[in-house]
Amino acid sequence: MLRIVDLHAKLRDEDKEILKGVNLEIEKGEVHVLMGPNGSGKSTLANVIMGNPRYIVTEGDIVFEGNSIKDLPPNERAKLGIMMTFQNPYEVEGVKLSQFLITAHRRIHGEDKNYLELRKELEETAEKLGLDKDFLERYLNVGFSGGEKKRSEILQSLFLRPKLLILDEIDSGLDVDALRLIANLIARLNEEGVTLLIITHYKRLLDHLKRIDKVHVYVDGRIVTSGGPELADEIEEKGYSLEGVR
Ligand code: ADP
Ligand code: MG
Ligand code: MG
Repeated sequence: MLRIVDLHAKLRDEDKEILKGVNLEIEKGEVHVLMGPNGSGKSTLANVIMGNPRYIVTEGDIVFEGNSIKDLPPNERAKLGIMMTFQNPYEVEGVKLSQFLITAHRRIHGEDKNYLELRKELEETAEKLGLDKDFLERYLNVGFSGGEKKRSEILQSLFLRPKLLILDEIDSGLDVDALRLIANLIARLNEEGVTLLIITHYKRLLDHLKRIDKVHVYVDGRIVTSGGPELADEIEEKGYSLEGVR
């Protein structure tokens, strides 16, 4: 489904290379985990897959379902079914969460369903997350608590139904109960066919997931080791140093 080949990328405004030759292959339905220290370029990788214009690909390719998406604008990638949740979601004054999500749904999936149908689906989805109707009428992420931002990101994923979902530190700052709720919803998304790339520092989210196909250790702009779920235990024990995981 996703094939990343020797991907190099830098900031548009600076010469600093952040991705230094990433190789990654994910099959449809799989769950992959990317673990690595702060500042190693994990969020950058997610943003480059999404086509964030702040970054430029200088070498390599990103192939989704057999076609290169490297030169597609972000909205085209979203239409293909690629989505990410943000580590620090944008706050958008004046745009209600409900408006934003219904508009996004119609852009991605077409206009077959009318506003009321989508509205009903959205409310049902929000309910699963313990979010009430009033929450949908708040401006996008404005004044949301950390936990509310995370739930709002998950709400987007549940409602917009991507084929490939990249979760960027969805577990940071969540208490135990919120973590369990979100982990269960993530597991359900996967059971329903959504392919996952989970970026995290911690093993605790992974403990709630039933399926993990591969864990990748990511240090300084590239994947240095890959293995099964047991690799996450090793990292928890020994840290990210190469000697540690080898
Ligand atoms: P991680 O998600 O692994 O913590 P990031 O991808 O956020 O790492 O950052 C990798 C490096 O690139 C850091 O040194 C960070 O400061 C830099 N960087 C990433 N995005 C930007 C940006 N938009 N502007 C300036 N520096 C950035
Ligand atoms: Mg970070
Ligand atoms: Mg990050």
